[in-house]
Amino acid sequence: VDLRNCPRCGRLFTYISKNLCPVCIEEDEKEFKKVKEYVWAHRGCSAVEVHEATGVSLEKILNYLREGRLEARGLKGPLLFCESCGEPIDQGRFCPKCSDQLVRGLKGEENSKKPSYSTGSGKEKNKMYLADRIIRR
Ligand SMILES: [Zn+2]
Ligand SMILES: [Zn+2]
Repeated sequence: VDLRNCPRCGRLFTYISKNLCPVCIEEDEKEFKKVKEYVWAHRGCSAVEVHEATGVSLEKILNYLREGRLEARGLKGPLLFCESCGEPIDQGRFCPKCSDQLVRGLKGEENSKKPSYSTGSGKEKNKMYLADRIIRR
C-alpha cells in the first residue's frame, strides 16, 4: 500500500491515482465543477474573471488547463495579465519585469514608466519618433 501525506491538507492517505487525499479530491472536484460551469456559461471570459466569480485560485484554474481538464478554448487568451503593466503573462500576478521591480521596491517609479500617460515629454517623444521614421525611410 502506497501511503502518502496529502500535499494540500497533510492527511495520510492511500495513493491510488491522484496525489491528493479523498477529502481534497472531493473538494477539488467541487471547485473544478464551479470553474467548468462558469466557463461554459461565460465563453471568452478571462481566467481572472473565472477566479473572481468562483473564488478558485488562478493557480488552480491554470492547473486545470495544464492538465487538460478545462478547455483553454473557452477562455480568452492570453489567460493572465500583469496587474501592474497589463502585459500578457503565463502565471502569477505580475510579469517578470514588474515582479522584479516590486521585489526591488521601485514601485514609486511606476508612473513615470507608463508611456501613454506621459504629458510634457510626449511632444518631444513624437518629434523623435517622426525623425526616426524619416531617417528610416
Ligand atoms: Zn487532503
Ligand atoms: Zn508587468
